[in-house]
Amino acid sequence: MRDKKLFDLIDQEKKRQTEGIELIASENYASDEVMAAAGSILTNKYAEGLPGKRYYGGCLVVDEIENLCRERLKKLFDASWVNVQPHSGAQANSAVMLAILSPGDKILGFDLAHGGHLTHGSPVNYSGKIYKPFFYGVKKDDGIVDYKSLEVIAKQEKPKLIICGASSYSRDWDYKFIREVADSIGALVLADIAHPSGLISRGLLNDPLDHCHIVTSTTHKTLRGPRGGIIMMRNDFENPFGFKTPKGTTKLMSSLLDSGVFPGTQGGPLEHIIGAKAVAFEEALSDKYLEYVVQVKKNANVMSKEFINRGYNIISGGTENHLMLIDLRNKNITGKWAEENLGKADITINKNMVPFDTESPFVTSGMRIGTAAITTRGMIEDDMVKIVEFIDRVINDENEITAVKKEINSWAIKFPLHKQ
Ligand SMILES: *Cc1c(COP(=O)(O)O)cnc(C)c1O
Repeated sequence: MRDKKLFDLIDQEKKRQTEGIELIASENYASDEVMAAAGSILTNKYAEGLPGKRYYGGCLVVDEIENLCRERLKKLFDASWVNVQPHSGAQANSAVMLAILSPGDKILGFDLAHGGHLTHGSPVNYSGKIYKPFFYGVKKDDGIVDYKSLEVIAKQEKPKLIICGASSYSRDWDYKFIREVADSIGALVLADIAHPSGLISRGLLNDPLDHCHIVTSTTHKTLRGPRGGIIMMRNDFENPFGFKTPKGTTKLMSSLLDSGVFPGTQGGPLEHIIGAKAVAFEEALSDKYLEYVVQVKKNANVMSKEFINRGYNIISGGTENHLMLIDLRNKNITGKWAEENLGKADITINKNMVPFDTESPFVTSGMRIGTAAITTRGMIEDDMVKIVEFIDRVINDENEITAVKKEINSWAIKFPLHKQ
């Protein structure tokens, strides 16, 4: 091995991933085959454009690979059109907005501080700098999306695009209602299902493709593929906001979205990652993956109940997906404290703002926990109870950290990284 320095570091990271408990809701463990494709010679190929319409020669094989990937994704979500080239979830969203909107157009997104994502209009993100963002949030009393205020703001501001979907929201979405609101003002609906897409793909949550014009996702969270993004539609349609062709006809949304990805926001696609996405989508179509996502949801449910039994305050009182957001204020600790001290015990979580938080984003009052990664390692309901006990011991008594870490390290290695 020539580059010993780098590969030693990868070994160190592998040890960390093996010996600890991974509870970051957006992470997962990709399979050996997904990683083999991602680390393959496909990384050498330039293929700007789409299969059959490339700007480079030598694309015969990568055309087949990208078509295979597209067909598998269409089958997985029952979509009629997909683009598998976005390098990440954020890139997928930027391509959609570039395709639909003009600078200065109004957008309505889910507030970042209530569980939304930076790309849904945050002032530090392109989406908040180029477009004019408005936000809806959750209700203070029950932590559920305030659909009434979404409707009021939508009717008042008439945004061109309404965005739903979240990074730290444990409930399902009423896509049908959001579409009705959008239709009443002539807006389009984008569902960003970056987090729960795996659960949605196998019918465990409401289907956004039924009601939302456009759907984006990452491929590395519950979908358990390589790091990447996708864009999908069940039904193509004519762009309602102009963009006439020279012949005076309006362009189909599919063609606008393809151009939004390339040349709009990206250069050459990552064909090695598209190959790895193809592997992941085939895996996601299997019976084993269905068992996996069912277990992810069961595990999250058991875990949230166990936290509640131990006096923790879960936002919205529980979970319907793979994650939960916990308000730590009644435990007299901050999210920052929890992330740091649980980390010392090899339990990885992330600090997270809770709705109506009184702390800064660097400190926060909450922690977000997800079961996608630990379920891939083969953990089931009893293991969830055990993990909550470990977490509770650290939070109640810092002096327990060393003992908890030791117990976790010997316990975690019993669950191999790639069991699926
Ligand atoms: C994770 C996430 C993204 C961004 O994905 P990246 O691959 O990190 O760019 C976008 N939207 C939502 C809702 C997310 O949770």
